[in-house]
Amino acid sequence: MNKEVIIKDLEEIVGKDFASNTVEDLFMYSQDPGASEPRPVDFVVMPNSVEEIQKIVKLANREKIPLIPMGGGLTLSGLVIPIKGGIVVDLKRMDQILEINELSRYALIEPGVTTGKLISYLDESYPDLQPAIPDAPPSATVVGNALIHGSGYLSQKYGNHGDMINGIEVVLPNGDICKLGSCSISDYWFSRGPIPDLVGLFISSFGTMGIVTKLSYKLYPKPKMRDVVFGMCRDPNNIPNLVSKITYTDLAEDFLLSKTDKPDYVKDLILVMVFITGDSEEELASKRKMIKRLYRKNGAQYMKMPERTIKGLLIKPQFAAAAADFRKGGGFEYVGSFMPLEMIPEASKRAAEISNKYSIITTQAFRIIGKGHCVMFAPTFAFNRADPLDMKNARDALDETNKLVLELGGIPWKSELAGQKLIVEKMDPNYKNLLKTIRNILDPNGIMNPGNWEV
Ligand SMILES: Cc1cc2nc3c(=O)[nH]c(=O)nc-3n(C[C@H](O)[C@H](O)[C@H](O)COP(=O)(O)OP(=O)(O)OC[C@H]3O[C@@H](n4cnc5c(N)ncnc54)[C@H](O)[C@@H]3O)c2cc1C
Repeated sequence: MNKEVIIKDLEEIVGKDFASNTVEDLFMYSQDPGASEPRPVDFVVMPNSVEEIQKIVKLANREKIPLIPMGGGLTLSGLVIPIKGGIVVDLKRMDQILEINELSRYALIEPGVTTGKLISYLDESYPDLQPAIPDAPPSATVVGNALIHGSGYLSQKYGNHGDMINGIEVVLPNGDICKLGSCSISDYWFSRGPIPDLVGLFISSFGTMGIVTKLSYKLYPKPKMRDVVFGMCRDPNNIPNLVSKITYTDLAEDFLLSKTDKPDYVKDLILVMVFITGDSEEELASKRKMIKRLYRKNGAQYMKMPERTIKGLLIKPQFAAAAADFRKGGGFEYVGSFMPLEMIPEASKRAAEISNKYSIITTQAFRIIGKGHCVMFAPTFAFNRADPLDMKNARDALDETNKLVLELGGIPWKSELAGQKLIVEKMDPNYKNLLKTIRNILDPNGIMNPGNWEV
């Protein structure tokens, strides 16, 4: 690889200020806030148009150099740290909200639009509409999050964020621009069907199939009022039934469970949080009453919480900093995993044993997705970056938890490299063959985020 030629070419494509290979600039792209080891990056480039991306892709094919698409870089699992070196394509400059369709309820956005930007824009200009966003920092991008099957406060009602994609425009690994979904036929980006749905190929593929340059994301009506009804449950075995009964009623907008060993008085309890909405105080009061009754009948107890706790929880996104920084020293990662509802009790018990083994304070979150069709189970591991043993403990705990999740019938989510390998080991061989065939056809030079999903 002739680095001097490549940097000159990149500068020519995007301008001198937006391509770099200096040690200082590459430093922050070689690591992320999670537990992955830093890995070398050769170049970073910040394109500002689809045409510039096409030129970068063509250059990468000519030089056989990897491209790593990056939004906010906040997955915590090293997904935008190159595995085989290459060019990080930082998409933050492409941050335009191109269209809001108020009636068909979707936002057409560029890949650099952050969750913070989309929420502020809608609050100001379309206050009756809301997007689904994660509880991640507001600098996470909507596209990066939707493309990893993210989840957030509308997931209980409407599914994971990958389900909310209506269509995409993508620069394929050969440099072609391709539209997928209704937008490939119509001016309206309102649906993925009724044609063969290829959008799914680009979700949870971690940038290995192409670079998404536009995405249509569903928007939802925003109710006037919101509240959260707290419960607690001492016996985790009651949780699957409780969740099933509550989701059956269609009362909850969001539905979270959490378990933590700190402070001491909540140890051994599972906290239940059901978020309800309404247009009037009477509507909320009647929903509160119904949730309390469901708690009573299904092995949980209503818990009155201070106003300030409730207020904090109603702010979106919620701020997970407390659990993220138990150890002090800024390190945090979690095994988000998708699993069936019935696995919650055993997963919770055994993940807590793993935390104890590695001297990590047990902190687990569970988000109900799609009315109970799936649960996002997230044991979290905070660590002190300045302490190598602490970092090793977090990595070992992540690895054991990934194995536990797979053993119980779940699937680790947005998995780091080691977790991806475990998933691939367990995958149906014909699924692997199909994936390999598609990858080889789309990307014969293997330039798109290689090392991920290696089959
Ligand atoms: C404190 C904290 C709390 C969190 N809570 C949540 C939560 O509640 N729910 C949740 O879902 N997540 C959560 N996360 C995880 C993560 O921050 C989010 O999922 C985030 O939205 C990922 O978006 P990003 O822009 O950072 O993506 P990135 O990390 O930049 O990218 C994610 C993946 O998508 C690929 N990619 C990005 N953009 C493109 C593109 N345009 N074309 C092709 N591929 C692309 C990347 O290569 C990478 O593989 C949390 C993280 C933190 C730090």
